[in-house]
Amino acid sequence: MSVTVLQNFIDGEFVNSVNTGQYIDSHNPATGKVHVKIPDSTKADVNNAVEAAQAAFKTWSKLPRTRRSNFLYRIADILESRLKEFAEAEVRDQGKTITFATNVDINRSVYNFRYFAGHVLHAEEKVGQLDGVAMSYVQRWPVGVAGLISPWNLPLYLLTWKIAPCIASGNTCVCKPSEFTSLTAYMLCSVFKEAGLPNGVVNMVFGSGQSAGEALVTHPNVPLISFTGGTVTGKHIMASSVKHMKKLSLELGGKNANIIFDDCNFEQAVETSIRSSFWNQGEICLCGSRIFVQETIYQKFLDAFIPKARDLVVGDPNDSKTFVGALNNLKHMEKVLMYIDLARQEGGVIECGGSRKILQGELSEGYFVEPTVITGLPPTSRVAQEEIFGPVVTVHPFTDEQQAIDYANDSPYGLSCSVWSENDRRARRVSESIQVGTVWVNCWLIRDLRMPFGGTKASGLGREGADYSMDFFTELKTICLANF
Ligand code: NAD
Repeated sequence: MSVTVLQNFIDGEFVNSVNTGQYIDSHNPATGKVHVKIPDSTKADVNNAVEAAQAAFKTWSKLPRTRRSNFLYRIADILESRLKEFAEAEVRDQGKTITFATNVDINRSVYNFRYFAGHVLHAEEKVGQLDGVAMSYVQRWPVGVAGLISPWNLPLYLLTWKIAPCIASGNTCVCKPSEFTSLTAYMLCSVFKEAGLPNGVVNMVFGSGQSAGEALVTHPNVPLISFTGGTVTGKHIMASSVKHMKKLSLELGGKNANIIFDDCNFEQAVETSIRSSFWNQGEICLCGSRIFVQETIYQKFLDAFIPKARDLVVGDPNDSKTFVGALNNLKHMEKVLMYIDLARQEGGVIECGGSRKILQGELSEGYFVEPTVITGLPPTSRVAQEEIFGPVVTVHPFTDEQQAIDYANDSPYGLSCSVWSENDRRARRVSESIQVGTVWVNCWLIRDLRMPFGGTKASGLGREGADYSMDFFTELKTICLANF
């Protein structure tokens, strides 16, 4: 298979890195073979991209929002017309299934642009009247050049979730996609060109976090960083950005509880738990990797859930029948397998899965892991506390509502939670007691982009979503006009 060599995208042009000839290998997770080479960009590349973004900011920030909105609509249309091509590239680059890439990653990336194209037109500012004294109103203006840093699990979706509100609000940006999954971000640059987006509005610098990422975070002319990734990296970025007091949004890891009461719609709870455990190989920050089941239905749940998990098709990500594709990279697969071993050492019972899956032919070197269900561990065990980010879940019984709440909250993370109960009052009581950014009741992963999204505790800082993203990507001023 041919290897695609990426270039940076700076000031509307594809250019080689200043670090000539230095590339990072990116592997196709399903075959283990190198399929993309990514420029190992340096501070000098980031400086060039920031300069281009600063120059573009002068005109882009002044463009009426209707014009900016039109560009976003055009980008959405072009991306949609190339959906299949992008989905296939995302599969090759990330290891996810074609079904997931098509319906979630790329489809929602289109929606991100379309949504913020509309939202920016309808956003309203607050006006306040102090009777007889004064009228105040809010003025908003874009922040400047934004640094947008994204992870490898939902590569295009998470990047466009940043780019769309960023440029809709009048900022320009320098993006640093994950070095494991840069292909669709690179392809997106050709969409920007085709849409006629002015040069320098979106710049893309590829490379490692330590080099290109760090240069962006510490750049004095990048006043804002929007980061999605691991908690350890997030803490490091927070510390590095202190010197310049940057605006920061950190969307970090999760270890989300999935609480199932005995008065739930059992079939729905089981079906959805299969998805919330194993969709995208468990590589979604919102996956429900700690399943708490009321003891009265604990065995019934295991009897229904384990055979379904065991029957999931692990295989060729390009086959529409495949449910579990390949994990993103070798190091990550080793980490996931390490946690399964740790579960054994901690006294856990591997109810199904528990190993790497070796496939035949050109997939024999792929990073496949069987869907794994573990019981018998206390909720305080390392495996039940630390983010694994793979197709591995622990299942624990609980006695009553209070114990379920305590278990769910006993976590360093606070991203999301699902609650399953047909008793509305109970569902509401429990939901309001869980310390996370999103609670789903009798569902999972439904996203209304108008709602705030983000985590508490070690899951992050700040909120994204309609007005919340617009607040982050703008500065706000109150202007108070006296009546006298
Ligand atoms: P990661 O933290 O290793 O990398 C994320 C990005 O940060 C990459 O682009 C990487 O190159 C860059 N980076 C690394 N070190 C850097 C540094 N010193 N300075 C600047 N940039 C740096 O995360 P990952 O392994 O790619 O992604 C998986 C993690 O992301 C999981 O923990 C997952 O839960 C989290 N995640 C969170 C959300 C959310 O919305 N909360 C969404 C998706 C993924």
